Amino acid sequence: MPELPEVEVIRQGLQRHLPGRRILEINTGNKKLRLPMPRRDLKRFVRGARVKKVGRRAKFLLIAMDNGAHLIVHLGMTGRLGLFPTGTPRTKHDHLRLQLDNKMQLCFNDIRRFGFIQVLPPGSGTAGTMLGRLGPEPLGPDFTPEYLLKHAAGKKRPLKNFLMDNRIVVGIGNIYVCEILFLAGLKPDKKVGRLTLKDWGRIVESSRHVLEKAIASGGTTISDFVNESGRSGYFQLELQAYGKQGRPCSCCSTPIVKKTMAGRSTFFCPKCQR
Ligand SMILES: [Zn+2]
Repeated sequence: MPELPEVEVIRQGLQRHLPGRRILEINTGNKKLRLPMPRRDLKRFVRGARVKKVGRRAKFLLIAMDNGAHLIVHLGMTGRLGLFPTGTPRTKHDHLRLQLDNKMQLCFNDIRRFGFIQVLPPGSGTAGTMLGRLGPEPLGPDFTPEYLLKHAAGKKRPLKNFLMDNRIVVGIGNIYVCEILFLAGLKPDKKVGRLTLKDWGRIVESSRHVLEKAIASGGTTISDFVNESGRSGYFQLELQAYGKQGRPCSCCSTPIVKKTMAGRSTFFCPKCQR
């Protein structure tokens, strides 16, 4: 599943190619995604518009149009975006294709169809949408030790579940939360009310470090974004630090432990993380 760094890498790739491009035509598939395809709004607000900027909020891509509308893309579990020359044959799981004015097409492909497309008409805010109820960005200025200490006060929730709650902070998924807690030296099942301001400082610092490193390593694949040879133009980002159970901890050589928390696999070093 694409997590925040992968989505940010895709945003950076799109930001290099889309601004200034006009969307000439829109083709949609017939299969149902997590939300119904907004065919009418796509034709009304996206067709004919020019892309101004490609932004991101949590794991939502926000493609801003020159008419004030926004095209929202969520990749779900298996969603992919790619740029291909116009005329590239449609494949089975292509759900949306935007024909651009430079003989290229932007293609949204999703095998498992947990992703979705939304259109925000010009002038409509994000308040009533899924974007309206989200906590701060982990790489933004509002994600501070003081903020976390305040929201964790008196709570007995496990630290891992707390950090994966989108109302607390967005975009920290199962893979990166394990990395962040490993780097911070804190146990995933620690009760959040017991953490000190110093502990939260380590969480904030580790989050930035892990996410920025992942974004930077994904950035090396950006040159492959436009791929004339066909389908391989999609991003593929190798994840390094997930699923290391039984292997020696890079810090103390104790075998990494795998445990299930809230139904999700959790990996940690029983010695380094306290
Ligand atoms: Zn260790």
